[in-house]
Amino acid sequence: MVEGWSFASARRPATFGCGEQRDAPEIQHARTAGEDTFFCGFPPQSVTLCGLAEEEFVAVLCRFEPESEHACPQCRTAALAAPTVPCD
Ligand SMILES: [Zn+2]
Repeated sequence: MVEGWSFASARRPATFGCGEQRDAPEIQHARTAGEDTFFCGFPPQSVTLCGLAEEEFVAVLCRFEPESEHACPQCRTAALAAPTVPCD
């Protein structure tokens, strides 16, 4: 038994991919994929936590950092409010 282990400590904050807004690339949005479209044959459509559609942003291969000065305020709030997920 690991000292101090608990279900609470075995969870980590949810993380999101990062997307840059096409007309304002200095703003970084938290990206998520809508999984409910996956099983009908279409690839999951990415959206941002603040509701931008896929064609409105460019996905970048990094993790959305809510603490970043470039973070979209709406995405920051939503990302920080997201439930924690179990550790891998
Ligand atoms: Zn956003």
